[in-house]
Amino acid sequence: TSYDHELNVALLAVQRATLLTKSVFHSHAKGTLNKSDASPVTIGDFGAQALIISALQHNFPDDEIVAEEEAKDLRGDEGKTTRETVWDLVKGTKLEDGKAEEVLGGALKSDESMLDIIDKGASQGGSKGRIWAIDPIDGTKGFLRGGQYAVCLALMVDGDVKVGVLGCPNLPVSDSEPLEEGIGADASDEEGKFGVLFSAVQGKGAHSRAFSKAGLQEAHSIQMSPLKNISDATFCESVEAGHSSQGDAAAIASKLGITKPSVRMDSQAKYGSIARGAGDLYLRLPVRKDYVEKIWDHAAGDLIVREAGGMVTDVEGNRLNFRLGRTLKENKGVIAAPKDVHSKVIEAVKEVLAGKQ
Ligand code: AMP
Ligand code: MG
Repeated sequence: TSYDHELNVALLAVQRATLLTKSVFHSHAKGTLNKSDASPVTIGDFGAQALIISALQHNFPDDEIVAEEEAKDLRGDEGKTTRETVWDLVKGTKLEDGKAEEVLGGALKSDESMLDIIDKGASQGGSKGRIWAIDPIDGTKGFLRGGQYAVCLALMVDGDVKVGVLGCPNLPVSDSEPLEEGIGADASDEEGKFGVLFSAVQGKGAHSRAFSKAGLQEAHSIQMSPLKNISDATFCESVEAGHSSQGDAAAIASKLGITKPSVRMDSQAKYGSIARGAGDLYLRLPVRKDYVEKIWDHAAGDLIVREAGGMVTDVEGNRLNFRLGRTLKENKGVIAAPKDVHSKVIEAVKEVLAGKQ
C-alpha cells in the first residue's frame, strides 16, 4: 500500500481539528468562552478529538483508535454545559474547501453521537493491525499562552508507525527561521507567517507545508540539518521541568561541548522543528522513574524525524516501541538526533545518567 489516502485524510483531519483549537484559543482570549466552567484546554481537547475520530471512522471504519480523552465528563446533567460548548464548536468547524470537507465525511450528526465518537479512542493498542494514535492538543501550557502546541495523529500497522502528521499552528511557516519558543499567530494575529503541517510516510520522507483554512497547500520535503561538529548543535527540550530533567540535559550538552543555550518549547513541535533543520537535537530526560510515556505523545514525531534523516531512541539507545499498548512501557526518555551523531549523544547521555546513581 502507498498510504496516499491515509496521509490525505490525516492531513485534512489535523487541519480541521487545528481550526477548532485556534477558534477555542481566540474565544478564550476574547473572553467569549464563558458558557461553561471547563478550561479552554478541555474544550479544545474534546472538540479536536471528536473531529479527528469522525473523519477516521468515515474513511477507515475498521481501524482501531488510541486517543487521549474519554467522554465521561461530557455525559449526563453534570456534563451538559461543557457538552454544549464543545458541540457548538464541533458543529461550527469545517474546512472552507467543500471537497476536502466531503473527504472527511462532513459534519457530525448530533451531540450524542459526538460522545460515542470521542469514546471510540479507547483501544488498548498493541502489535496487531491498524491503530491510529491521537493527541488532540499536545502541549497544553503552550496552547494557553499562545505558544507551541501540536495536534498529533499517527497510523501504526502491526506496531510500526506508517503515517505521521503534526499540526503546529504557532510555528513559523518558514523552515529557516531560527529555533525559538516564540509566540505564534494565535497570540500575534500575524496571518500567513505561522502554522505548519508536518507529515511523513514510512519510506517516503518527511514533508512540511503551510497551514491554511482553505485547503491543503503545496508540500516540500524536509531534512535534518547536517551537523559537522556536535558542539555546534542547538538542542530543544520541554518547557516543563517536570516532563524532562533540564539539569541532566545541561550536563549532557556540556559533555558534548555544546555552548548554545537550550530552546524550550512545549509539545511535539520539538520533533517537527529538528526534522526541518531548525534545531539539531531533542533531549527528553526522565524526571521520575515511574512515569510511562504515552504513544500519542511520540508516534507522529518519531516517524517524521526518522524520515528526515534522524534517529529516535530512548535514553538507552533503544528504538521507541509502539507495540506494547497505550504507553511506551519500557522506553524511558527520548533522544532524537541526526543519524550520524546519535550514538555520540547516547554515549554522553549514558555517562551523565550513570554518574547520578
Ligand atoms: P512536552 O510538551 O514535551 O513537555 O510534553 C507534553 C507531554 O508530557 C504531555 O502530553 C504529557 O502526556 C507528558 N507528561 C506528563 N507528565 C510527564 C512526566 N512526568 N514526564 C514526562 N512526560 C510527561
Ligand atoms: Mg500530549
